[in-house]
Amino acid sequence: MAFATPIIRRSVEVAMVRYPHEHLRVAGHADGRSAAGSTTAEPSRAASAVKSVPVSGVRTATAEELQWLADQSQRLESASPEEILRWAVERYFPRFTMATGLGPEGCVIISMLAKIEPRVYVFNLDTGYQFPETLALRERIAEKYGIVVDLQRPELSVEEYEAANGGPVYKTDPDRCCFDRKVRVLQRVAANFDAWATGIRRDQSPTRANTPIVKWDAKFGLVKISPLANWTRKDVWRRIMEEGIPYNPLHDQGYPSIGCWPCTRPVGDGEDERAGRWSGTAKTECGLHT
Ligand code: SF4
Repeated sequence: MAFATPIIRRSVEVAMVRYPHEHLRVAGHADGRSAAGSTTAEPSRAASAVKSVPVSGVRTATAEELQWLADQSQRLESASPEEILRWAVERYFPRFTMATGLGPEGCVIISMLAKIEPRVYVFNLDTGYQFPETLALRERIAEKYGIVVDLQRPELSVEEYEAANGGPVYKTDPDRCCFDRKVRVLQRVAANFDAWATGIRRDQSPTRANTPIVKWDAKFGLVKISPLANWTRKDVWRRIMEEGIPYNPLHDQGYPSIGCWPCTRPVGDGEDERAGRWSGTAKTECGLHT
């Protein structure tokens, strides 16, 4: 079988259920769905549901696995994003997931998954500091594609977290805030999957310029796939306009890149598209991709 890679063999050994994400959703919804059919319903503290998943430590890859992934990445350099996603679905679904901050790239990938495999588990790291427009976009995406982006949250609410730390941690230690409210949550979700997709593009910033199509993500212990690595910002927006893909209205108000509201500002003419993220600090990434 084409998928008999070492990574997949190990997956089969540990996968006890056909759809590993189902238990992430079931605990958050009495009907076992993630608000499907009811786009306004919020997962009720989905994060606490995931706490019950045993996390046995971050997986590592062998030299053989790393080489295989590097070969696949090279082979997929000339493939379209849809071909890359089809490859990922064929090899990793249902242990394939996608994390999205509901940026334009994520919305484009969701539109592709809707045609390729709409059952892929898509989730958002809901820090508690997202713009209302971002959360509203999640509902528009669900209405258009039937894909409900699950909200994965940290253990502590914003109120609990700030009370425990004497105020907003994004003001005093944004790296720690991102770690507690994003990285830890992704680690918890990643333990249930073998591969994840991201919307990273090489032209977004110098730190993303060498992003491979496929790589081993040692931080989270799974394969990382970036189907839009070769696309430009223009490519993404052309697709959005051609297909009427829903996008965040803040993009029309000077926000090319949108994260949490305390750490995002609009950018001026000529500024880098990620210049509005953690503006005024040396921080450029939240830690998910570095
Ligand atoms: S982007 Fe800002 S508010 Fe959001 S998790 Fe990171 S530091 Fe905290």
